[in-house]
Amino acid sequence: MILVDQETCVGCGACVDACPFAAIEMADELPVIGHACTLCGACVDACPSAALKLDGPVREQRGGQEAWRGVMIFAEFRHGRLAPVSLELLGAGRHLANTLGVPLSAALLGADAPEFQAAKQSLIHHGADTVYAAADPDLAHFSEENYTRILTAIIRRYQPEIVLAGATAIGRSFIPAVATHLGAGLTADCTDLDIRQEDRALLQTRPAFGGNIMATIVCPDMRPQMATVRPKVMRELPLDESRQGEIVAFTVEKDLLSARGRVVESVVAEADQVNIQEAEILVAGGRGLDDPKGFQLLRQLAEVMSGKVAASRAAVDAGWIPYPHQVGQTGKTVAPKLYIACGISGAIQHVAGMQSSETIVAINRDPHAPIFEVADYGLVGDLYEIVPKLIAQISERRGK
Ligand SMILES: Cc1cc2nc3c(=O)[nH]c(=O)nc-3n(C[C@H](O)[C@H](O)[C@H](O)COP(=O)(O)OP(=O)(O)OC[C@H]3O[C@@H](n4cnc5c(N)ncnc54)[C@H](O)[C@@H]3O)c2cc1C
Repeated sequence: MILVDQETCVGCGACVDACPFAAIEMADELPVIGHACTLCGACVDACPSAALKLDGPVREQRGGQEAWRGVMIFAEFRHGRLAPVSLELLGAGRHLANTLGVPLSAALLGADAPEFQAAKQSLIHHGADTVYAAADPDLAHFSEENYTRILTAIIRRYQPEIVLAGATAIGRSFIPAVATHLGAGLTADCTDLDIRQEDRALLQTRPAFGGNIMATIVCPDMRPQMATVRPKVMRELPLDESRQGEIVAFTVEKDLLSARGRVVESVVAEADQVNIQEAEILVAGGRGLDDPKGFQLLRQLAEVMSGKVAASRAAVDAGWIPYPHQVGQTGKTVAPKLYIACGISGAIQHVAGMQSSETIVAINRDPHAPIFEVADYGLVGDLYEIVPKLIAQISERRGK
């Protein structure tokens, strides 16, 4: 919080002008800090009489930035395997660490098992210099409370200047709590990360205002600088089995594992098994299908091409297909070799999730549909005429 020393304050209002969030008002010649305050500290710096002070973890960290060095990623490990985004984070983290001239580490939490051991090696083979491994039976299942406490403890101990995590269901659920415990900022859903050379600041770029602008966010005062990154946005490094690294066991203090909730069992839901992010060919349907039965046709096309079916949000919102199939800003980011968009207009929020596809084919009866601006091949016409012909041609060529 911001503390106001009433004796020292001269009531000049410099803090009101300095606040980028319009969170301060003057009342009886004293500043009143409102709910919009983000603890950025601009008012503290602007106060000519040093009457404002940052209290809490923010204050503790100010001025001690040089103690924080290195880049750390949170390695998501579930159901005996690393989430692919963890390896993608290592790719992004390696670039940042090389630019800063610091080591790259990975924090791995789970229960000790052969798969957990293999995950440590895999992290090193994909770019980590050090793996901090916290193994305990109570970490076998993800629990927000336990994971928050352990990751916070690892970060406090090793003090990386940058922490990256996947913007997955798990990352989104507990990384904000870690940032809060550390008094750090957090930029969610970044699509680009870089370093500002002059002050080592992490430049965190993400879509804002419904994807209409790209905002680059900097956390100048606090360490670590924390960001989540969506799966399939960054590229993982090629596997290098000759890479050597250090594995450090992080001793889990039992009093950190006192979660009020207890996870009894964790099962993979059927819907989760639809991993459109790993498919090389995706056939996506939108509102232009006009009927849930349209997906039966798209499934046939996907089948003859050994691909999977994806969808726009309009199709998901209509209840034609479950959410795990959704591509876009509030769905999944995909980068298949081939993306066939059928009856999808190409709204910016959809394109944000598929524009990295190697080849994009769009089928739409509106020749002015925005999807054609990102498509490599455009077929103007009724999808119910075009798709059956594609199925027939491809089946014939493949001998099916
Ligand atoms: C904050 C926010 C987040 C969002 N997140 C997402 C997201 O993650 N993913 C997403 O997809 N959207 C998202 N949206 C919604 C997005 O703005 C669009 O509304 C949505 O993508 C439209 O889906 P659509 O292209 O299927 O439908 P429409 O825009 O209605 O397009 C249907 C298209 O089908 C064509 N068509 C109709 N009949 C036929 C036919 N027989 N043959 C061929 N073509 C035909 C039409 O010409 C039209 O171009 C988001 C919106 C907001 C505000």
